[in-house]
Amino acid sequence: MPRVLLVEDEPAIADTLVYALGTECFEVTHVLTGTDALAVFASEAVDFVILDIGLPDMTGLDVCRRMRETSSVPVLFLTARADEVDRILGLELGGDDYVTKPFSPREVVARVRAIRRRSQAATAGPDPAGACAGAPASGISREVFRHDAAAMRIHCHGALLDLTAHEYKLLLVLLEKPGRVFSRDQLLERAWEDPGAVTDRTIDAHIKSIRAKMRALRAGTEDHIQTRRGLGYLLALD
Ligand code: CA
Repeated sequence: MPRVLLVEDEPAIADTLVYALGTECFEVTHVLTGTDALAVFASEAVDFVILDIGLPDMTGLDVCRRMRETSSVPVLFLTARADEVDRILGLELGGDDYVTKPFSPREVVARVRAIRRRSQAATAGPDPAGACAGAPASGISREVFRHDAAAMRIHCHGALLDLTAHEYKLLLVLLEKPGRVFSRDQLLERAWEDPGAVTDRTIDAHIKSIRAKMRALRAGTEDHIQTRRGLGYLLALD
């Protein structure tokens, strides 16, 4: 069974993740501090790390930096704040992805599986977790969109989307929660540092531009961003 090191100091969050990962055939070692995480990492074989940024003794970013001195293990960051997301995106640590709180445990598990598939693709070996009886097919998003957090790039159906900084951040917000409708205000808040300086129309213009770039890559892909009249936008993966 693939072993996941979960570094999270909030017991409620950790409990739901330990349970969700357990049902998906992952073996989980849970620690509450960065110090303990590094100790476990040094002494045990770890296949994947889920790393909270806000830890009591050091930041998750520091923990990742230390792990990266000796290992390229895939890392999924857990973050509660938008400014932390900026810091993750600014990293060149090789951290693989992040999810923002609050999240569903299911979403985290799907992300872990998608990242593992991606990192295993080169070796062409079977995904041990995929052999778990009853494991639902997840990581669908990987097939349509792929986010390279380190390079701050998004691929759509295997082709690189050439996005401006705001288009990138906007699409990233939608990608975080496929199927969820985001109002224009919510998108402004999440993707702009100074939301007051722009209007709803700005969002519409950027969405239009992203759709055009997706369509240019492959006809029909622009439909992945759907409009809910009077409500906002959502990302559809099918
Ligand atoms: Ca925390």
